[in-house]
Amino acid sequence: MKFVVLLTDGMSDHKIEALGGKTVMQYAKKPNMDKLLTEGVGGFIKTTPEGYYPGSDICNLSVMGYDPTIYYSGRSPLEAGSQGIELGKSDMAFRCNLVTLDGEIMDDFSAHHIDAKVAQACIKELDSIFRPEGIEFYPGVGYRNLMVMRNVDFDMKTTPPHDIMGQGWKKYLPTGRGSEKLLDIMQRAKSVFDGGKYARANSIWFWGEGRKPDMPLFKELYGLNGSVVAAVDLIRGIGRFGGLDVIDVPGATGFIDTNFEGKAEYALKTLEKNDYVFIHVEAPDEAGHMGSVEEKVKAVENIDSRMLPILMEGLKKFGEFRILITPDHPTPVLKRTHVAEPVPAIIYGTGVKPDGNTTYDEFMKPTFFIENGYRIADYFLKSAVING
Ligand SMILES: [Zn+2]
Repeated sequence: MKFVVLLTDGMSDHKIEALGGKTVMQYAKKPNMDKLLTEGVGGFIKTTPEGYYPGSDICNLSVMGYDPTIYYSGRSPLEAGSQGIELGKSDMAFRCNLVTLDGEIMDDFSAHHIDAKVAQACIKELDSIFRPEGIEFYPGVGYRNLMVMRNVDFDMKTTPPHDIMGQGWKKYLPTGRGSEKLLDIMQRAKSVFDGGKYARANSIWFWGEGRKPDMPLFKELYGLNGSVVAAVDLIRGIGRFGGLDVIDVPGATGFIDTNFEGKAEYALKTLEKNDYVFIHVEAPDEAGHMGSVEEKVKAVENIDSRMLPILMEGLKKFGEFRILITPDHPTPVLKRTHVAEPVPAIIYGTGVKPDGNTTYDEFMKPTFFIENGYRIADYFLKSAVING
């Protein structure tokens, strides 16, 4: 049997007055998803464990079948994994943002969306200064960069710069074991920004630290060879650490203008070799963060009209298959950020008996409720019959 997870990042939402009191999922035209639900089952997954932040890293780990309370070890190691940066057991990765400080105020967490080329030159200069001391800087995209230190025994608390916009930054500097080393690097790094050499960036900011996650291979857990189709570093990193093939799709941007058709086509292609594919689509989440109802409706409609027909047609030739469609977390457009609420999911395919639901939304009559979100993988992959 072939298994497809279609992860629609941030798709679920709340009721919105501008949509006549409907949610985005209720308002959007999505005949293909509704048809799959009509012939399949609906339910909910609690993807964020109690006490955790509903980050895409945490929530995607859950949907992929990894218990985040055991396997989540920070955001940066996942990004490092995606970039192919090798991490040993005692190495630590840090997110290194290029930021704009205005005196004692955190003016902008992205150095006002610093240009990618400018950022790259800056990180290169930092690397040339610090690498002789064993401090490695790696350029990412724009303000999102990484720093790695080898053989360190740090244990510290850091703060994401996007959480303290417009606030005094001094009280949010790293604290704890090893923090004085980071403070020293930040201090010494300041000179490279002299004279406005790197646009509006005037400091680096470390956060999101972690060690390499000690994740078992997906194949060990679920007995399947698989692939990940994703443009976003975090998700690609999870795939890499889980031993899944990480697929590049031309034109896949991780934004609202992504190559929807290409993702579906490449996913089908990987199923000729592997039995599981995890397709991640970032567009609804981006629209949610933008606070744009219109873009979010469009994102849902694009997934429905531009991906599902290709997937469903292409899956036919494999005979037995199942598909799980689910967001990782809601990104309500009126909140413009993630919330820790269970997400609506549908399962369709071999061995799945219809449960009477016909409209895929946040108010379906649930046939399943997965309290420990990561157990969705067992339910989806291993139940011989669903709703039998
Ligand atoms: Zn997400």
